[in-house]
Amino acid sequence: MKLTRRIFLGAASAAALFPVRSFAATQIDFGDVAITSVSDGHLSLPPAFALTGLSPEEIADLSARHNLPADLHKPPCNLTLLWQGERLVLFDAGAGPDFMGSAGKVSASLEAIGVSPEEITDLVITHAHPDHIWGLLDDFDEPVFPNAALAMGAREFAYWTDPGTAATIGVERESFAAGAMRRLKPFADSIRLLQDGEELMPGVSARLTAGHTPGHMSYEIATPEGRLWVIGDAIGNGHIALERPEFESSSDQDPPLGARTRSALLKALAASGDAVIGYHLPGSGLGRIRAEGAAFRFEEI
Ligand SMILES: [Zn+2]
Repeated sequence: MKLTRRIFLGAASAAALFPVRSFAATQIDFGDVAITSVSDGHLSLPPAFALTGLSPEEIADLSARHNLPADLHKPPCNLTLLWQGERLVLFDAGAGPDFMGSAGKVSASLEAIGVSPEEITDLVITHAHPDHIWGLLDDFDEPVFPNAALAMGAREFAYWTDPGTAATIGVERESFAAGAMRRLKPFADSIRLLQDGEELMPGVSARLTAGHTPGHMSYEIATPEGRLWVIGDAIGNGHIALERPEFESSSDQDPPLGARTRSALLKALAASGDAVIGYHLPGSGLGRIRAEGAAFRFEEI
């Protein structure tokens, strides 16, 4: 049987830490495997980040239907925590202290569910954008999760640790390149690099879902009672990405490839009925994808 429950902080601290999501974690139990969506807070983005290329009328229509503010979008940041036997596996590290004041809250969320950073045994990265990996190191460049074995896609690691990337990534993402290099380099000797399809641990496999970044990985978690996909930013938001998967979004580093990957993933998830945790999907990001004609909708669990 699958059980879900939300874990709240005290009302006052929840409002201060998580103005968008307001709860620290949502847990789903698949038999003896538990999967928890843990809040890192939220991003604060101009609408153009995701909607460049739409007409003003299309933006107004989409915003009205999805309750999107005209000035600032506030997508949640949803990390995934997998409890399996002795292992406590965290997918992505959050934004850390230096990216945005509204993100970087994962330590508070973990504390709310009684988990200390020292207890994380494995840290698995979807991609190396700031909101996903700048939380690897603290203000003193010490690892935030000191006992965690780090893993990520081989192609993604090679791209962000290539000194040439800063020159080719484009001015608007130059700081992403420098920031990723600084945070990945200390792990270069110990990190496990994954290939598409490789089994990370029993029941957990890496799936290349490139486009948002060159080596973006999703992770398929199989349990005896169902499957869940940690999809990172392969489906980057709960509005245009679902309604028009083929829309080439400026939030993806390779927009045409991002659109192809997203369309294929949405089709597969709607057909299988597998659960997902989307890093920036609404609420806890934990839910299922449903087909609606040529479009899709996200149904939170
Ligand atoms: Zn992201």
